[in-house]
Order: sequence, then C-alpha cells, then structure tokens
Amino acid sequence: MDRQRFVIDAAEAEQLAKQSGKTVLQFLPSLVKSAQSLARPPISNYHVGAVGLGSSGRIFFGVNLEFPGLPLNHSVHAEQFLITNFSLNAEPRIKYLAVSAAPCGHCRQFLQELRGAPDIKILITSEDEKENTTNHNCDDKDHEFTPLSHFLPHRFGPDDLLEKDVPLLLELHRNGLSLCSDFCNGNINGDDDLKYAALDAANASHAPYSKCPSGLALVDVDGNIYKGSYMESAAYNPSLPPAQAAIVAYVASSGGAGYERIVGAVLVEKADAVIKQEHTARLLLQCISPKCEFKVFHCKKN
Ligand SMILES: [Zn+2]
Repeated sequence: MDRQRFVIDAAEAEQLAKQSGKTVLQFLPSLVKSAQSLARPPISNYHVGAVGLGSSGRIFFGVNLEFPGLPLNHSVHAEQFLITNFSLNAEPRIKYLAVSAAPCGHCRQFLQELRGAPDIKILITSEDEKENTTNHNCDDKDHEFTPLSHFLPHRFGPDDLLEKDVPLLLELHRNGLSLCSDFCNGNINGDDDLKYAALDAANASHAPYSKCPSGLALVDVDGNIYKGSYMESAAYNPSLPPAQAAIVAYVASSGGAGYERIVGAVLVEKADAVIKQEHTARLLLQCISPKCEFKVFHCKKN
C-alpha cells in the first residue's frame, strides 16, 4: 500500500490477488500486516489489524485506536473500526474477516449485531503463522477460516431482544429524525453542513435497544466533513458511540493526519434521550483536539 488507505475496490482486490498467484480469499490475510501499520495505539503500543471481505468484493481495513488521558473504554477495537468502515461505505455484509490477534470477547459480542453473525468466517493470522512455522509448508497450506459461532458458541444478541423485522447493523436504517426548532436548539445559526451531516448520521444510527439514535459530524481545518453513527450492542457495553464512529471516518479518510486538525464537531441526539452522548463526546473531543468547537443539536422523531 503506497498511502494510508482503508478500502480496496473489488477490481483492484482481484488484480492484487492475481499478481500474488492467489484467490482474493487467500490474499486477504496477507493484508493484515498493512492494516496493523495503520493502527494508533499510543497506550498499549499493541497494533491490531483487521481486514474484511464484503459481499461486493471490496476489502476493508480496521485498526485499533487508543486515546491517552481518557479511560480505556473510549478505545476503538480493530473489529469495531472495521464494521464502522463497512457502514461508512454502505457495504451490507461481511463474509470473511482476517485479524492479527484473537478477537476479544467485547468484539465477538459486537459482531453479533450483524445479520447471519454466526456464519462470519474468521482467520487469526498470528495463529496461522505459528501453525505454518510448525508445519514448514506455508506455501501449500490453505488459510483456514473458522465461523464466529466457534468463537462465541452460546450467543446473546439481537434475536433475544428484537422482532425479526428490525434492521440490524449494516442494514438500511431510516430513523425518521428531524432537527427541533431553533427555539429548542437555542437559536444557534450557521454550521448547516455539519449539522445536517450529523442529522444524516443520526438517521442511520443503529440504536434498537435504547431507541436513542445519535450522530456526530466532525470538520477539519480544510473543511472536510466526517460523520459517524452511534452503533448499539444488545449487551450495551460494546456499543460504539457516535464520536468514536466519526473519528473512525476521520482516520480512514484523512490520510494519516493528526486529531488536532479537527476544528469543529456537531452532535445530534434526541432532547429527551435516555442514552445521552453529549458529555462523553465532549470529553473525548476536548482531549484529542482541545481547540475543537463542539455543539449539540436536538432532534425528534417525525
Ligand atoms: Zn476487541
């Protein structure tokens, strides 16, 4: 990879695999090291890379993000980054996932929000390498993917809590939210692009358990906008807040730029939300980009 990229289109994936004399699926694990090099883990210095093959044939990268000065629960795991990257690019389904280290329990749970989760095939490259070293036949050996149901056999997930017709993570969400009147939002003018980007993100948010969808949009010094949708887990704690999702969008699209280039942020959430993102988002943004101007707008269901 010549520059920081987090998506490879289907035609290029085919071409790169062919050049290596492999199928796309055989080629997938070889990208994990490139993904690891893009991780931002200044606390642990443990670089995790996750690479996913989508149903469109595109390949997506995910990496871990850590934020010094904040509690560890603000961190983003590589698999969460990967699924957020799928969502940002409207990729509806992950078929195969290669990851540098065994997915933690938190990520095994987060992945349960996807339709057909038990059938997602996973390969852990560090274990694959160990095995190949022992067998001395790495060129002949096919990489072996194992279904997620093997890693988390007794699952708790959306099936336990939701009706069958409720859209799951990566499926189309239309939350039907609109901004409250200016009066409700304190007559704040301006920032329209950022405000409506955050509203879009809130409308795409996956929050079927709390019914408190939210979205956050960031703007950098050059005026580029990055938006992130809140993504909820049936087990609550593995949920990914909208600020983290927007930072994933920033990392995936800003070509390796530092967080200090983020100069503005807008959060859109319901005025009467039981789950509020405002305080935790403010904390995160103040820590990573102290000059970032942060505003909150309230929305309501139409
Ligand atoms: Zn994890």
